[in-house]
Formats: sequence, C-alpha cells, structure tokens
Amino acid sequence: RHDPQGGAHFLEDESTKIFARKVADHYSARSNQKLEEQEASPIIHLKKLNNWIKSVLIQLYARRGDAVVDLACGKGGDLIKWDKAKIGYYVGIDIADGSIKDCRTHYNGDADHHQRWKRFTFPARLICGDCYEVRVDKVLADDAPFDICSCQFALHYSWSTEARARQALANVSALLRPGGIFIGTMPDANVIIKKLREAEGLTFGNSVYWVCFDEEFFDKKFKSSSPFGIKYTFHLEDAVDCPEWIVPFDVFKSLAEEYDFELVFAKNSHEFVHEYMKKSEFVELMRRLGALGDGNQDQSTLSADEWEAAYLYMSFVLRKRGQPDKS
Ligand code: SAM
Repeated sequence: RHDPQGGAHFLEDESTKIFARKVADHYSARSNQKLEEQEASPIIHLKKLNNWIKSVLIQLYARRGDAVVDLACGKGGDLIKWDKAKIGYYVGIDIADGSIKDCRTHYNGDADHHQRWKRFTFPARLICGDCYEVRVDKVLADDAPFDICSCQFALHYSWSTEARARQALANVSALLRPGGIFIGTMPDANVIIKKLREAEGLTFGNSVYWVCFDEEFFDKKFKSSSPFGIKYTFHLEDAVDCPEWIVPFDVFKSLAEEYDFELVFAKNSHEFVHEYMKKSEFVELMRRLGALGDGNQDQSTLSADEWEAAYLYMSFVLRKRGQPDKS
C-alpha cells in the first residue's frame, strides 16, 4: 500500500491471470469433434493445411529416438506426426485440463476416435500447467534435456507481459540440449499490423475469421508504446474465440538471442507452402491430407477466405547454441 507501483503491478498480475484463465477455459470447453463434424467444418482445409505445415516442420527436424517436449500440446493432434517420425519420448503440457484429458484419451486409444486401435510406440508424459508462468524445466528436471521443443499455434499467448514472454523462452532454452531445436507456428505480426493499417476501423476479417483490436494500445499511426501486451480478440470460425497478443518478430528474435537461440528460419505460411511444395515428398503429403484438394475450385479445396486466414500465420525454427554432447 506504501508503494503506488505495487498496486499497479498487482492489478496487472491479476488481469494477466484472468486472461490466461479465459484462454484455458476457452480451449478446455472445446471437446473433441467427431470425424463427420470435422469434415463439415468451414475451415476443414485450413486445418488440413496447418497440419501439413506442422508435419513438414516435424519431418524436417525430428530424428529417430528424439526426446520431444510439446508446449501447449492441446488435445494431442500432433501425436501421430511425432509417431511417424519415430521419436523416443514425448512430454506434452497444456494449460487446459479438458485438452490434457482428451490428449490422454487419444494417447491411450480412444474408443470413439478413428485411430481406435492406435498405440503409440513412444512413452509419453502429459501434464496440465501454464508453460509461461512456471519454471517448466524444474517440473521436468528428470526428463530434460530434450532434443526438440515444439510450440504450435500457442506462443502468442505468452506475449501478454514481458515477464511471461521471457519465462516462455527461458523455459524452452533450459529444456533443450545444446544444439537442440525449437519449432513453432504463431500469428505473423507483420501481416496483422499491415491489415490493421489497411482496415477502416480496428476490425478486419472475412467469412472465416475476424480480428478486433482495443484502441488503447495504439497511437494514431498504429504504433504501440510497448512490444508486449498488445491485445486483440481473434475469432476463427469453428475453432478459436480468444484474447491473443501480437508478437513483433524482431523483438521475439532478439529476445530469443538473449536466451541462447539463433534463428534458422522464419516464414509466413504462404511462403512456407510455396517453398516446401517444391519437394515431391511434401507434395505427396499434401495430397494425402487433402488440404489443397485436386486443384478444382469446389468444396474439395481451400477457399480464398481460408487461404487469406492462412496468411495470418508464420512458422519459425530456432537452434539452441552450442554443440550436442557426442557421448
Ligand atoms: N499445439 C496444439 C495444436 O497445434 O494442435 C494446440 C493449439 S491451440 C490453437 C492453442 C493451445 O494453447 C490450447 O490447447 C491452449 O490451451 C494452449 N495454451 C494457451 N496458453 C497456454 C499456457 N499459458 N500454457 C500452456 N498451454 C497454453
């Protein structure tokens, strides 16, 4: 009470926790969709495209026998991808207890799921927790170091405060071995801010998504005073309705360098598709997933609005400095 700053921090901490809870509750409430429901989704091809992007990242960087930590693993939608890469060990962490329960059911062989008889070849540990608030390396002291850390469509939830953004990167750095790889996909701040500048108000979108900013974060030229805590609401039809935070990529890159990472690459999803669709094995994977259909402009392919929504995302690969232990 004697320190006016103390009060402000208390309020900031409280609202950060409330937003983290909102995000967790949102994802917890989304139960597993049945296969028929998934196929009827207006963003089915976007989901397939995003699965293709994650599969490509995993195939490019996972090696047989790798120990993997999947931060914000959700319902375990990537378990099959890791299985195909023949990893040796998997740890998944997510803040949403409903998602971790679904993930556990999926791993153990869900009776309703189309992968009914699937048994994964690797042992897994699934934990419910806030990856951006706690020292995950302490929780996983017996499992570390890991060869790969993956954080798919979730790192932007750490950017609500500088402390959380730092905790996220500190955790990944502490969990990885020297030379270990950090892969992820997150909203592309450059695209989002460009679209905001072009928009008439503080909202933009199309038939499958909308983004809405609060005025308080920007001056008249859409410049923010801080690179952290720039909040917007993101709605993706049949998938997301959540507070999210802008991750300015240049700030992310320099912060990552402070935590011993070097950038291997960063690519917007459109560029990613163009680049990896030059490789026959990934063209074949795209065909099998059915994301781009057969190229006809009908229901069997990605709509123009879904393709525009894909443009909102980017993928990155970072490498933890140092040489891997040869022993
Ligand atoms: N990575 C999964 C995938 O690609 O299918 C799930 C992505 S989903 C869009 C975002 C996930 O981030 C949700 O499962 C949510 O519960 C999780 N999440 C959000 N904030 C988190 C936090 N602070 N700690 C752990 N998980 C978090």
